[in-house]
Amino acid sequence: MATTDPDPQPKEVKLDTEEVKVDTETDTQKQTGTQLPDVLVDALDAHAVPSPVTEEIKLAEPSTTEPSPDQELVSKKIKTDSPPIPPTSLPEVLFKPDWAPGLSREVIIDRIKGCIYGNALGDAMGLATEFLSRDELKKKYPKPGPIPFSDIVLDFHRYRWTKGDWTDDTDQMLLIMEGIIESGGNVIPVNFAHKLHNWARYGFPELGDQGGLGIGMTVHRTISHSHFLTEPHTAAREVWEESGKYLAANGAVMRTSVLGLVSFNNLESVIHNTLQISLTTHADPRCSASCVSVTTLIAQLLTAPLSCTKEELSSLIDKSIQEGAKLIEDGDKKKEFITHMSATSLRELNLDEAKAIGYTLKCAGTGFVGVKSKVKTAKDFIKFMTELVREGGDADTNGAVCGAVIGCKIGYDNLPHDWIQKMPHIKWLDDKVDMFLNCIGLVPDTSST
Ligand SMILES: [Mg+2]
Repeated sequence: MATTDPDPQPKEVKLDTEEVKVDTETDTQKQTGTQLPDVLVDALDAHAVPSPVTEEIKLAEPSTTEPSPDQELVSKKIKTDSPPIPPTSLPEVLFKPDWAPGLSREVIIDRIKGCIYGNALGDAMGLATEFLSRDELKKKYPKPGPIPFSDIVLDFHRYRWTKGDWTDDTDQMLLIMEGIIESGGNVIPVNFAHKLHNWARYGFPELGDQGGLGIGMTVHRTISHSHFLTEPHTAAREVWEESGKYLAANGAVMRTSVLGLVSFNNLESVIHNTLQISLTTHADPRCSASCVSVTTLIAQLLTAPLSCTKEELSSLIDKSIQEGAKLIEDGDKKKEFITHMSATSLRELNLDEAKAIGYTLKCAGTGFVGVKSKVKTAKDFIKFMTELVREGGDADTNGAVCGAVIGCKIGYDNLPHDWIQKMPHIKWLDDKVDMFLNCIGLVPDTSST
């Protein structure tokens, strides 16, 4: 867990309004030569920059360095405002039955859809209590039980969203998905960088967005870096180094679930793709480990036997934690990572811990609590997600990751469709999912076999 150092700059963060004085905070560090404790930086990162700030983001200057092959590929294909490019090939991700022996493609499709819709629904449900402590949310939502979309209190933070809509977590997951579709099944960091930059400015205009809402501090700083569009990994690393290597926020893991759905029969590819995208904005090894542990968990859940035994489930969970832990060299941080991923209850994660609510390990940990839960049905899903939402903290982000993991485990058919259908942009999402499934060669089999 993150430590609970005394708060040296309490006036810099207004928890209720998510106002973050970016420049003041940075200047304070420079003037005093002191480093903000990680708990404060984490808290800063968990709070969105108000949308007007996104309008100030300037397009990066072109890099003077030689482009990589990936960058050359992207420069030919990607223009920031260009329409989607249809898939040109299906090289490595075309589904083959031997990827998941004993499972039909319908089962794989059901699990993939479960992951995506579980991500979106968990995110949308979590908006109700995002950034609230358990005590605060009891006052806003005194009636126990699920919080229907219609009951979401549109306070200063929440008024910008339509009730039932997903937030930036799912938006950014969809940016990754779009990139995969447009590049014919490939995962290209510079492609994602362009998409993220464009989304920060405009959101999804076809959904009526005026800009990307809910952008975290790490992402904001990174996409503002002058080389972000050409060298996003370098930009992210420099931002992290400037932070004193303390930034370990949940802005990468919140969007990462979809990377467990591509080349899912090959964990090396899953890990490679995950790092390519997570490092685009978040350089801390704890962020990399969080993302890899979640995507390797999802990839393994996709191909798990229909009647997965307790031992088999335990084995794939252990494997996922190991793959993440490999990425952390520091012994104390590795131990902290394993402790979070080994949590058996949401309460253990202390999700509304003041000033550490946006810590990447808390968010990833909710996915591991979720996969160990007994959720099997739509009713179970609502019950568990209600428990998560009522823990407060960065509830939409936790809901996105936990919802994706549980959705993958139980499948789309077992998700609460009455809730899913109330999400305002569900038809648009349906079309995206169909394009993604088609891209990875997973259209429903209509043959008699
Ligand atoms: Mg969010």
